[in-house]
This record gives sequence, C-alpha cells and structure tokens, in this order.
Amino acid sequence: MSDPQTLLRSRAWVDVDLGALRRNLRRVLNAAGPGAAVVPMIKADAYGLGAAAVVRACRAELSRDELWGFGVAAVAEGEALRAMGWPGPVTVFAVAPPGEYARAAAADLTLALSDPEAVRGWAAAALASGRRLRFQTEVDTGMGRAGFPWERAAEWGPVVAEAAGDLIAWVGCFTHFHSADELDLAPTDAQWERFRAAVAALPPAEAGGPAGPVHAANSAAALRRGGYGAGLVRPGIFLYGGAAGPGAAPEPVASVRARLALVREVPAGTTVGYGATYTSAGAERWGTLSVGYGDGVPRRLGPLGGCVLVRGRRVPILGRISMDAMVVDLTGVPDARPGDVATLVGRDGGEEIALDEVAARCGTISYEILTGLGPRLPRVHTDGAGERAGA
Ligand SMILES: *Cc1c(COP(=O)(O)O)cnc(C)c1O
Repeated sequence: MSDPQTLLRSRAWVDVDLGALRRNLRRVLNAAGPGAAVVPMIKADAYGLGAAAVVRACRAELSRDELWGFGVAAVAEGEALRAMGWPGPVTVFAVAPPGEYARAAAADLTLALSDPEAVRGWAAAALASGRRLRFQTEVDTGMGRAGFPWERAAEWGPVVAEAAGDLIAWVGCFTHFHSADELDLAPTDAQWERFRAAVAALPPAEAGGPAGPVHAANSAAALRRGGYGAGLVRPGIFLYGGAAGPGAAPEPVASVRARLALVREVPAGTTVGYGATYTSAGAERWGTLSVGYGDGVPRRLGPLGGCVLVRGRRVPILGRISMDAMVVDLTGVPDARPGDVATLVGRDGGEEIALDEVAARCGTISYEILTGLGPRLPRVHTDGAGERAGA
C-alpha cells in the first residue's frame, strides 16, 4: 500500500512541524505571564500552514483556561472553524462586510466593530437571528485601518452601549500595535497609553460597557512587554516560526521542499530560463526542481542571490524561476540524484535557510512568504519526532 504521506511528498510540499508550533505557543504564553490566555490568530489558513491542523495542535497544547478562543480575519474563516467543530469564541478581527452579518450570526461569530453604524447593524442581525450575539470594539491608537478613535472614547462609549442594548453583548475591547517588532518600543508604549486612556473613558460593564478582556498584544508585544500585562494576547507569526521583534527567535515550523526532477551535465555556453539570463561558464551540473512561482516561491529570489539546500549543502538558483520549475547549480554536489529532496526554506543536515532569511533577501516579511505559499503545495503535518499528526 502506498503511504499517503509519500504521495504528498512526491513533487513539492511544505513540512509543518506542529511540535515546534506548540513549543512556540507555550513560549508566548509563558512570556505573557502567569494566568495569561491566548487567542491564536489563524487567519489566512493559519498563515498558510493549514488552519485545521493548527487548531488541533492548539487545542492539544492548551488547557481551556489558556485558550480563550481563535482569531480570524474573514467570516468564511470563522464558518470553517465551526465546521471543524470548535465550539468556543471565534472573533473576526478585520472589518466584516455588513452583507455577511447574517452568516456571521448563524455561525455565532464575535465581530470586531469600529463604528456606531456597525453596532446597529450587528444588533439588527441579532434581532433577525433570534440570538444574543457578541462583539468587541477596536480602538484605533495609530494603526489607522480600523477602530473607534482613542481620543473620543467618552463620546462613542455610551453610544455603543446604547446601540447594543440587550441585543448584543460587548465582550471585549482591543487595539493593534503598528511597531511592536521594532527596536524602539516607545511608539508601542505610547499606543498602549492611548488605549488605556480610551478604556478608562468607557462606561463600566454595569452600565453596558465592555464586560470581557481588554487586549492589545501581537506576537512581538507578548514576547517583549508580556502583552502589557493585559492577560490576553493574540500571537500569530511567532507560532508559525517567523521572528517577532529583536528578541529570541522561534523554532522553525515550516519547511518548503521540492524534489530534484532532473539532474544533467551541461557544457559551457548553455543558457537557462526565460530571458536566458544565465549561461554556464564551463561544464556544470544542473538540477531542475519541480517548484516555481506558481507555488509561491518568489520569482525575485533568483536574481537576489537565493539558494536552496541539497544534501545539506547550499547551492545557488540559476536564471529566472519559472511558474512550475527552477534550476539550481549542483556542480558542488556531485552525489545529487533525481528524487533528492531540496530545501528552499528549512533545515537539511547541519545547514539551514531560515524563513526570515528568505524574506529579507526578497525585501519582504515572513508573513508574506508564508501566506504566499500556494495551494499546489500539500501541507504535511507532523507532531513530535517524525510522528504523524492526526493519525
Ligand atoms: C494578525 C493579527 C495579530 C497577530 O499578529 P502577529 O504579528 O502575527 O503576531 C494580532 N492581532 C490582530 C488584530 C491581527 O490582525
């Protein structure tokens, strides 16, 4: 019988180490201080690594008190989480389109709201659905993309409480930091002070104000300032193996791999790729990898000096990356064979190409590399030393 995991690893794929993810999760929680809880952010299919498996890993790792709920960005992601059987809080942190309120209500999602009109619309959805729905308010302290203005909380607080009435429950209030991963934490401290001032100006819970947690921290703020002591943190990237600020690095979680499809000896003067931008100087040994920008490998990685690992050695990418294939120079790896596994991101033997290294080389961030990995790459999840997840 052919092993399904072998089939998944036939062309190109992403290995996802859920054991490492769980250890990263534990580190964030520990950094947030005793009694803290987390809302793992699993938007964009858990940053491209597979939300269903990540949800299972979080539920396996955390106690009920430690796992406050999950965070998503789209109503459809919340519906998917319900389909996976998660019964607890699901908060849609991005602004939900009013046209999706009925669906959000049916899935019992919690919406993050940013203006009184949205509060009224969500209350109307509660009335129509016959359920008491939940919402949080976002406070804009400098991110500028959503949220009630921090400096006018005394104005909008009572308006929100009034519009919510008994129809929808105000279960939390949060802000989002724009620079928590930068060396200087002064801008983040200033955002936190704005947020505290706003929260202090809101009506108390007895008068219809927020009755749940007040929270702010992404991965970087959870790790560096203990989530500002808020007791609830919202980590994303660190769980998935991306650095969050200048502190200690996470354990790598995602490895991008591809098979060597062809290995050939080429004479001097052989060209490679669109535009024939590279020509062999002498006799060289080239390997074709069955992966390309159609899988989410950034096309600019080639000209920017990108490498891959083959048999534990770094080899350069030659010429332009195609949609479905790319060529590497195996001259320095004479033992490389078709079928060998090449590593574009991750470890092989004693060598590593870190996710953040690839991102930096491409002039972007780890988030964009991970969420850009395409659906053509199977996500192969393992939990622990070679043990298969979900088996
Ligand atoms: C994505 C997101 C986070 C997580 O941020 P990371 O930098 O990935 O830790 C936290 N809060 C909100 C509102 C988000 O949208």
